[in-house]
Amino acid sequence: MINIEESKMLLTITTIHKPATDLGYLLYKNPARLQSFSLAFGQAHVFYPEASAERCTAALLLEIDPIGLVRNKRGMSGNSFSLEQYVNDRPYVASSFLSVAISQVFGSALGGRSKERQELAEKPLPFEVKIAVLPCRGGEMFLRKLFEPLGYTVKASQLVLDEKFPEWGQSRYFSVELQSVVRLKDLLRHLYVLIPVLDDEKHYWVGEDEVEKLLRNASEWLGSHPEKEQITRRYLKHRKRLVRDALARLVEEDDQDPDKTDEEHANEEAQLEERISLNEHRFGAVLAAVRNASARSVIDFGCGSGKLLERFLQEKSIEKIVGMDVSYRVLEVANEKLRLDRLPERQRSRIQLIQGSLTYRDKRLEGFDCATAVEVIEHLDMDRLNAFERVVFEFARPKTMIITTPNAEYNVRFENLPAGKLRHKDHRFEWNRPEFESWARKTAERHGYSVRFLPIGPLDRELGAPTQMGVFQR
Ligand code: SAH
Repeated sequence: MINIEESKMLLTITTIHKPATDLGYLLYKNPARLQSFSLAFGQAHVFYPEASAERCTAALLLEIDPIGLVRNKRGMSGNSFSLEQYVNDRPYVASSFLSVAISQVFGSALGGRSKERQELAEKPLPFEVKIAVLPCRGGEMFLRKLFEPLGYTVKASQLVLDEKFPEWGQSRYFSVELQSVVRLKDLLRHLYVLIPVLDDEKHYWVGEDEVEKLLRNASEWLGSHPEKEQITRRYLKHRKRLVRDALARLVEEDDQDPDKTDEEHANEEAQLEERISLNEHRFGAVLAAVRNASARSVIDFGCGSGKLLERFLQEKSIEKIVGMDVSYRVLEVANEKLRLDRLPERQRSRIQLIQGSLTYRDKRLEGFDCATAVEVIEHLDMDRLNAFERVVFEFARPKTMIITTPNAEYNVRFENLPAGKLRHKDHRFEWNRPEFESWARKTAERHGYSVRFLPIGPLDRELGAPTQMGVFQR
C-alpha cells in the first residue's frame, strides 16, 4: 500500500478573501475549535490548521472504521478481489465517504446558506482545495477534463505505489490541488459529485434517489459540462436506466423557460462583474498557472504598471523576476507602485524592469522558466504577430508561456459595450475562442510546444468566459 500515514488529512479548503476567518461563518464551524462528528462509517473532524485574517484553512479529516466496512460489506458489489482492494484503500483516500461527510458536516454551506454571512455565501471567492489522496480512474487527463471546464486550475502529482519499491511504478492515486474563484456552495457541489466520479466507485447501493442527489447538486453546471455523459454514468454507477433518466432530466431542466434562465444568468453576471473584478480573476489564474509550472524565473511581457509583478514578488519560490514593456512611462509607474527603491536589498535583487519590444529579438528575454503576456497580444498590430511569435517561441523559448487575451464572444455580456466595439480603444483586434485557439495551436506546433486552454472569469454556457488563456509548454 502507498504510504499515507502523514496524509490522513483528506481535504483542506483555504481562502485568502479578507477577513479570511469568515470561512468559519460560511462553514458553520468555529476556527478556534476542533469539532468531531459521528457518521455511519466512522468519525469526521473539522479543524483549522491556519486561521488569520489573511489566510484561513479548514480541514476535514475522516477516520473510517475498516472493521465496520467489512462487517457492512453486503451493501457493496464486486468480487472478493475488488472488495479486498476496496477495504484496503478506503480509510485513506477521498471517495464517496468524503462526499457523505461533506453533505453531513457542511450541509448548510452545500445549500448556499450562511446565517451570519449570507452575502459572502453568494459571492465567488478565491479558494484553494487540497485533496491528499484522490483515486483517479482515467488518470490526470480525466481529472483535468472534469475540473478545468468548471474554471479550476488543477495541479496534480501522481503518487508512487510504494516508496520502498519504486519499480512497482505509479499508483492510480493523486495528490491534487484545485484553485478557482467560485462560490463556496458550487465548490462543495463540484467536489461532492466529482470525487466519487473520479473514484468510479460508491460505498453504498445506488438507487433512484441517487438521481435526485445528482440533480440537486449538479443541475446548474452539469448540463453544459463537456463530460456530462461520463460524469452521469459514473456517478450512477453505470446503471443504464438511471443514467438515461438523469440525462433526460438534465436536458429538461436546462430547457425550462430558457428566456427566464438567460435573464437570470445575465443578471447574475452583471452583479458578478461588479463584485469581483475580472482583473483579480485574471491574475489569480495566471499565478496559479505559474505555480503549476514550478517556475523559479519569470518574465512578464508587457508588464504595464506591474500588477502581476507585485504578485510574483510575494511568491517565495520565484528567485528571478523581470518585467518588460515597450512603454518607458508605464515602467516608471511600475517602479513607483512596486516601491522598488525602497525594497530591502534581498527583495530588490530579485526583480528588474526592462524596456523592450516583443517584436524584436532580444537576448535579455531568453532563459526563463516561465513567461507571461497578460492582455498584451491584442495591443499588437496583426501584421506584427508573426514577429511576436518568433521572438517568444523561437528565440526567448521559455519552458512555459502563458498568454491571455479577451474572448470577443463574451463582449455582448458587457452592458455598456455597444455591439461590435472592442473593449479598449488601444486594442487592435479581439479574437473569439476558435480564432485564438487555432492561432495558438499552430504556433505551438511550429515551435515544439504543447498548449492547453483555460477560461478565466465566470463561464457562460454559450459564450465561454470573458478572458481566454493558453498555457504553452515545451
Ligand atoms: N499586462 C498588464 C498590461 C496590459 S496592457 C496587465 O495585465 O495589467 C498592454 C501592455 O502591453 C501595455 O503596457 C503596453 O505598453 C504593452 N505593449 C504593447 N505593445 C508592446 C510591445 N510591442 N512590446 C512590449 N510591450 C508592449
